[in-house]
Formats: sequence, structure tokens, C-alpha cells
Amino acid sequence: MDLDEHPTPVGHVYIIEDRCKGCDFCIEFCPNDVLEVSKNFNSKGYYPPLVAKQEKCVACKLCELICPEFAIYVLEEKMETKQDEQHE
Ligand code: SF4
Ligand code: SF4
Repeated sequence: MDLDEHPTPVGHVYIIEDRCKGCDFCIEFCPNDVLEVSKNFNSKGYYPPLVAKQEKCVACKLCELICPEFAIYVLEEKMETKQDEQHE
């Protein structure tokens, strides 16, 4: 497989803090330790996650799938491949 044509995806993580119930599932199950517990609580009194290492997110969306409150989602950012560059 030509890795230049299949780069690692990059994700942008969004957190809807006031929906969070502080279960920490997203933090525990993220394979790349992108998330950690915020020091500030939300309007319900729970500590939501914060995005500590955005650059390590590979857009696997496990956090989004596992969140019982639909409080976190990830958008995949388009990565340019070497092929894209050659076609410009
Ligand atoms: S999409 Fe995957 S890598 Fe990114 S924060 Fe969620 S679980 Fe972690
Ligand atoms: S999985 Fe959802 S509810 Fe649980 S801590 Fe993460 S964002 Fe909050």
C-alpha cells in the first residue's frame, strides 16, 4: 500500500459541554489520549472532557459512538494526498 496516497485522517473534536454527564467513557476509550477531564464543570455540575491533544485525533469517532448523551462529535478534516498535489 502506498502510504502517500492513504494518509492518516485528522479529526476535529467538538464537545457540547452542557449535554455531558461526566461518565468519562470518551476519555477512557480514546485510543490516542486526545481527551482529558476539564477542570471546569458544566451547567449540570459535571466535568466534561476537554480536547487536550487535538493533533493526535485520527477521526476514528469512537468517542462519538460511545457517548450516551450525544455530547461529543468529530468531523474529519480533508487530508491532501501526494496525488492531489500532483493534479493541481
Ligand atoms: S475520534 Fe477517536 S482519536 Fe479522535 S478523540 Fe475521538 S476516540 Fe479519540
Ligand atoms: S462520553 Fe459523553 S457524557 Fe461521557 S464524559 Fe464523554 S462527552 Fe461526557
